[in-house]
Amino acid sequence: MTTVRTRIAPSPTGDPHVGTAYIALFNLCFARQHGGEFILRIEDTDQVRSTRESEQQIYDALRWLGIEWSEGPDVGGPHGPYRQSERGHIYQKYSAELVDKGHAFHCFCSAERLDKLRAEQMEAKQTPRYDGHCMHLPTAEVQQRLAAGEPNVVRMKVPTEGVCVVPDMLRGEVEIPWDRMDMQVLMKTDGLPTYFLANVVDDHLMGITHVLRGEEWLPSAPKLILLYEYFGWDKPQLCYMPLLRNPDKSKLSKRKNPTSITFYERMGFLPQAMLNYLGRMGWSMPDEREKFSLDEMVEHFDINRVSLGGPIFDLEKLSWLNGQWMRELSVEEFAAGAQKWAFNSDYLMQIAPHVQGRVETFSQIAPLASFFFAGGVAPNAALFEHKKLSAEQVRQLMQLILWKLEALCQWEKDQITGCIQAVVEHLELKLRDAMPLMFAAITGHASSVSVLDAMEILGPDLTRFRLRQAIELLGGVSKKENKEWEKLLAAIA
Ligand code: GLU
Repeated sequence: MTTVRTRIAPSPTGDPHVGTAYIALFNLCFARQHGGEFILRIEDTDQVRSTRESEQQIYDALRWLGIEWSEGPDVGGPHGPYRQSERGHIYQKYSAELVDKGHAFHCFCSAERLDKLRAEQMEAKQTPRYDGHCMHLPTAEVQQRLAAGEPNVVRMKVPTEGVCVVPDMLRGEVEIPWDRMDMQVLMKTDGLPTYFLANVVDDHLMGITHVLRGEEWLPSAPKLILLYEYFGWDKPQLCYMPLLRNPDKSKLSKRKNPTSITFYERMGFLPQAMLNYLGRMGWSMPDEREKFSLDEMVEHFDINRVSLGGPIFDLEKLSWLNGQWMRELSVEEFAAGAQKWAFNSDYLMQIAPHVQGRVETFSQIAPLASFFFAGGVAPNAALFEHKKLSAEQVRQLMQLILWKLEALCQWEKDQITGCIQAVVEHLELKLRDAMPLMFAAITGHASSVSVLDAMEILGPDLTRFRLRQAIELLGGVSKKENKEWEKLLAAIA
């Protein structure tokens, strides 16, 4: 019997998402339950959005939770490299194979032609899809244009009628009509593969037997299945996991709920509780108990117990569960956990230089700097009354700064200042107009240590969270304002 092999294949394009940890957990449980292997592959073919920092954050966040992989870019293994950007030559070879077999073709259409086609199809109320313009070019012409170095992509051929039956471990057979599938680009003009080609080739070469992925990928499953058929490979068992949702049932999004694992770490959640909560997303123990460890979950794991109703990721429920875990720690474990969280020398060393000059005794540290050891800070709304700006302008200023900080990749004081500067300049204001608001939102007080240093030390998760809370405190942002201010944001350098 072949060994079960599962994987997580995150794209390192932002904060490490709780959804990644959720899918990783279920893949890990499934593999362990069958005595198999769980591996990690980095899907970084989007060269513009992928970063090494984000990749490192994914490793750190999963490890913090207690999720370990037996093969991956950072631990090696027999099927490497495990980073798609290092596997370019492999995809070139398989793309050429598909073209040779007549399952794919070179497409030389310009962006202008494709835009025009799209516009016409939209106009005629048709689903926009490639019209096959380059599908039947004579081989000699293709060779000539390739030799001349003309930019091109490789597209896969897809049937135009009938249905594709997707065998899903949870839903049974799902029928998806072929006419919903476009002639997917497999290789881009830059010579790099798209998700579809790279994912299929790698899952095959890495011996993956079961793919548990988010259900947002279900509509595109036919393209993957067809690729397996074109190559003549056995396809893995497919399992489309229900998506995590906000309490209002919409897809989990950072607008409504913090989605970064690092946020939960900085808020002082226990990794065991977090993992336990993720394990309860759409799944339950046979005896319905709410609190369980990873080992217990593995022991009782049964993929058929996953229910398809959208699991709700609810901060209050998570906090409750975390409280259960907290109270069952021994006092020693509790103290050690707190120490590791923020009462450690690394963190104190970051804070000390900003506090030392402002106190006369150690006993004044806590009153001055307690906000470094808090999640939210509950400032008084009166702190946001502004000499120069109306209440609406205050909210607008803070929202614009928040958006700029949400897009900031390098979390350093100069960059943070740059964000605030860019917004105030655009609004024809001064830095000193914004700083009292920042003080109030971040520290909860009218004055404290330098707020820019504080933001750097607190990190992106807590800083953004506090700004969001302050904006909520002031009445939030209406849909109309959201739209108008987003336009403003786009104009800010
Ligand atoms: N790179 C994809 C992602 O970021 C992988 C999806 C899959 O599991 O196939 O979610």
